[in-house]
Amino acid sequence: MLVVMQAGASEQQVQGVIDRLVNMGFTVHRSTGVTHTVLGGVGPVEDFEPADFEVLDGVKECHRIISPYKLASRSFKPGGTVVKIKDVEIGGNSVVVMAGPCSVENVDQIEMSAEIVAKAGAKVIRGGAFKPRSSPYSFQGMGEEGLKIMRAAADRNGLLVISEVMDQSQLPLLCEYADILQVGARNMQNFNLLRAIGNVRTPVLLKRGISATVEELLLSAEYILSGGNYDVMLCERGIRTYETMTRNTMDISAIPVVKKLSHLPILGDPSHGTGKREFVVPMARAAVAAGADGLLVEVHPDPDRAVSDGAQTLKPGQFEEMMQQIRLIAQAVGRSA
Ligand code: PEP
Ligand code: MN
Repeated sequence: MLVVMQAGASEQQVQGVIDRLVNMGFTVHRSTGVTHTVLGGVGPVEDFEPADFEVLDGVKECHRIISPYKLASRSFKPGGTVVKIKDVEIGGNSVVVMAGPCSVENVDQIEMSAEIVAKAGAKVIRGGAFKPRSSPYSFQGMGEEGLKIMRAAADRNGLLVISEVMDQSQLPLLCEYADILQVGARNMQNFNLLRAIGNVRTPVLLKRGISATVEELLLSAEYILSGGNYDVMLCERGIRTYETMTRNTMDISAIPVVKKLSHLPILGDPSHGTGKREFVVPMARAAVAAGADGLLVEVHPDPDRAVSDGAQTLKPGQFEEMMQQIRLIAQAVGRSA
């Protein structure tokens, strides 16, 4: 259930409502908006009357949340979530670009990538040190060594680091070296991993599973939020359909749908969304036009020699062009990039 406190409700009044919810068996999550504090009571409690809460001191209104996800729903934080990491804000006015190669391959490749993406205006460098590959014989990633390389290159270029965590056992390492944990499409419903991420305080980018509905994506986000890690960002990266001309079908409509249903920032990944370099820039433009809070894009100094996902990876010049174009589109939709 959701209890919206009156503007200016005192801390004592807020605490009074929290105590009452806890006594009934709810776990309480607090969201402090610009004017109103909202309390989300979650748990298996069914037997309550919202009207009983509306008479409490300091309470403005109380509702049942009918969607199956509660803390991820827009009503919990109507103003939207802005994830702040150092001097970068994701979910605010600015469209944030996270870019870099699919995988960390070696020092030179990452140093060059960091320079290229930083110069063009990206704020975050991406690169997988642990890679979820469809074949067990494909390159599986450099592990900790790869994370160290990413951290050093990012720090030299004023960038944040995003990298994928595939398993709970990798969490301590990822939290040490990365600023954002990436949960890949294949792990969107790895509920043990999601719960473990709920217990850390490193921000996370949760990618949509290849056959997941938007509701399932939001329920997966709920696993993380309910553990108390509120810095969750979502990512549309294409879903599997009958179409074979692209690697996946990038569901641009998921962007405004998520915006309506949830307060969480949503990014677009046109690289995995299309699988082909020539379609990445048009779909990056489309994602920004549709209201994405950011982009996750694969870029490599020499993509034709990339160890993974080269076909969908932009060349440096193409990336610069993309950045120039999305700046114009962001402006047209009232944002900056
Ligand atoms: C990636 O970002 O390199 C990746 C593996 O993405 P996804 O999980 O969306 O396939
Ligand atoms: Mn990739």
